[in-house]
Amino acid sequence: MRPFQYQRAHSISDASTIAALPEAMLIAGGTNLLDMMKLQVATPSQLSDIGRIGLDGIQDTPDGGLRIGALATNTATAVNPRVRADYPVLARAILAGATQQLRNKATTGGNLCQRTRCYYFMNVDQPCNKRDPGSGCGAIGGVNKLHAVLGTSDQCIATYPGDMAVAMTALGATVVIATGKGTERTVPVSDFHRLPGDTPWRDNVLEAGEVIVAVTLPPPVQATQLYRKVRERSSYAFALVSIAAVIAMDGGKFTRADFAFGGLAHKPWHEPRIGELLVGAPPSPELFDQAADLLLEGAEGHGDNDFKIPLARRTLNAVLAEAVEKAA
Ligand SMILES: Cc1cc2nc3c(=O)[nH]c(=O)nc-3n(C[C@H](O)[C@H](O)[C@H](O)COP(=O)(O)OP(=O)(O)OC[C@H]3O[C@@H](n4cnc5c(N)ncnc54)[C@H](O)[C@@H]3O)c2cc1C
Ligand code: SF4
Repeated sequence: MRPFQYQRAHSISDASTIAALPEAMLIAGGTNLLDMMKLQVATPSQLSDIGRIGLDGIQDTPDGGLRIGALATNTATAVNPRVRADYPVLARAILAGATQQLRNKATTGGNLCQRTRCYYFMNVDQPCNKRDPGSGCGAIGGVNKLHAVLGTSDQCIATYPGDMAVAMTALGATVVIATGKGTERTVPVSDFHRLPGDTPWRDNVLEAGEVIVAVTLPPPVQATQLYRKVRERSSYAFALVSIAAVIAMDGGKFTRADFAFGGLAHKPWHEPRIGELLVGAPPSPELFDQAADLLLEGAEGHGDNDFKIPLARRTLNAVLAEAVEKAA
C-alpha cells in the first residue's frame, strides 16, 4: 500500500472539497477501497473519511417513499422494517451480497460506487483500459467468464458487480448527489452507472467534488417483488446473472412489470420495453420468450461468458413463472 494522508470530514462540504482534489478519494465503509489500495489498483494520496458526517439515517419521505442515507450500512438497510415490508426486493438483493461482516461496514454510497471485479482490473501487472487508460483490455480474448454480454465496447467488457443497485433500479429509485457548490442534483439509479464506451475508467456520472448523500425510493406499490441471483456457489459470490422484478397482476394480466438485471453489463441493465410488452398481456411461454428476446437483443458473448446469454433467458423465464404463481 502506498503512503497516504488520512483526514476525517466533518461535513458534506468538507468531503466535497477533498473529493475535488485530483489525487484524493472518499472512504466510507472501506470494504472495496481498502482492498484496491492494498493491491495498488487505487493509489490516492489523500483519503477523506466520510463516516461521521451524519448521512446514516433512513427516513420516510413526505410522499410515502423512503430516503436511505449514503452512510446507512447495508445491514441497517436490509433489516429496516419499512424496507422489509414495502421494498422486500431491496432487502433480498442486499442480503444476497457479500457476507454479514462486510454488510455491517458497507454503505449505500460505497455500494453504488463499488468497482468491477474484472481480474485484469484488479491485477496491476495486466493491461486494463479502466485502470490504466490506453493499456488495452486483457479480458477481450482473455479470461472473461464474469464479463458483460450487453452494452460492451471494444475498450472494456467489465460488469458492474453489485446487487443493491439492481433492486433499486427495478424500484425506480433516485440518487441524491451534493454537487460541492451548495446544491444537490438527482439522478435515477438507472442512469447513475455508465456504459464503458471509449471512457471505461468512468464508472458512473459523479463529477469531481460530488458526494452521494442519499438514495430515495418512490412510494411503495402492491406488487410481488423478487430477486434471483445465479452464482457459482450459494453465498459469498458475485452474480453471473441476477434479476430484480416488481410485478403486479389483475384479472389474469400483468399490470406492472419492472425489471433490472445484474451480471450482464457495466451497469444494472434496464430494458423498459420488457415492461411495455408485458403490461396488459396474459402470461404465456411465448410472451416470456419475447421478453427474453428484448432483453438479449444485441447480446454478444466473448468466449468464456457465452453461457450468460442462455442463462439470462432461462433465469428471466423462471422469474416470470414464479412471479405469476405468486401474483395470481
Ligand atoms: C469479498 C467480498 C465479496 C463481496 N460480494 C458482494 C456481492 O455479492 N454483492 C455486492 O453487491 N457487493 C459485494 N461486495 C462489495 C461490497 O458490497 C462493497 O465493497 C461495499 O458495498 C462498498 O461499500 P463501502 O462503504 O465499504 O465503500 P468504500 O470501500 O468505502 O468505497 C467504495 C467507493 O465508493 C466511493 N464512495 C463511498 N461513499 C461515497 C459517497 N457517499 N459519495 C461518493 N463516493 C463514495 C469511495 O470513494 C470508493 O471509490 C463484496 C465485497 C467483498 C470484499
Ligand atoms: S474488461 Fe474493462 S476492467 Fe476488465 S481488463 Fe478490460 S478494460 Fe479493464
